[in-house]
Amino acid sequence: MLDQQDVIAKKDALISTAKRCFDLRLQTNSGGNLSVRLSSDDAIVIKPSGIGFNECTRDNLQLVHLDSTIEPSDYNPSKDLDFHLDLYRIRKDINAIVHCHSPWATGYASAGIEIPCLTVQTVEKIGRIPLIPLSSVGGPQTEIEISPVFRDIKVRAAVLANHGTVGVGKTLLAAQYLVEIIEETAQIAYVRDTLLVERGLPTPDVPRLGTPQEVKAALNSRIAS
Ligand SMILES: [Zn+2]
Repeated sequence: MLDQQDVIAKKDALISTAKRCFDLRLQTNSGGNLSVRLSSDDAIVIKPSGIGFNECTRDNLQLVHLDSTIEPSDYNPSKDLDFHLDLYRIRKDINAIVHCHSPWATGYASAGIEIPCLTVQTVEKIGRIPLIPLSSVGGPQTEIEISPVFRDIKVRAAVLANHGTVGVGKTLLAAQYLVEIIEETAQIAYVRDTLLVERGLPTPDVPRLGTPQEVKAALNSRIAS
């Protein structure tokens, strides 16, 4: 039995995150998808096929159980449904997923280039953004390609070749922040690399930041000396 108050709260959170993603132009048209786990753990709210991020309502969002049972709906399930369900099954720490086709990140992914984590924020918040190739049968990525990458619990985000980005988190907003950081990083990387090429300069290494413990120890030793 689903907790209807929780369902409404999660639907409203999804609608608000989808609108933010649309307003930032990270997802236009009806592509991409986002979902959130219900507090009962065994079901999610997800956008159906053919509905844009800016058109999500309490009435068109779907409720789907982790065993793939879809609650009665007037809409068709998204083709992304299976990979969303699989990520919730394999990662108990994932409560929300945002997948969008943001242009800068997808440009990198389409060139087959992994986006470098070159800003301090990207290093801290994401660490690495794996690039997941297209399905071996030529179609878009499915759980077969995506889930093995996310089995590493350190992975919080990935970029899908010729397709888009995926951010996961404890909340929808946390997952949304990651796809925003990825897009921002791709744009910064493009500007950096364009300027370096124009000036004939070598590409610098991405920064290596210490762990919070290492930074604290270094600060303490600086104060002590
Ligand atoms: Zn997609």
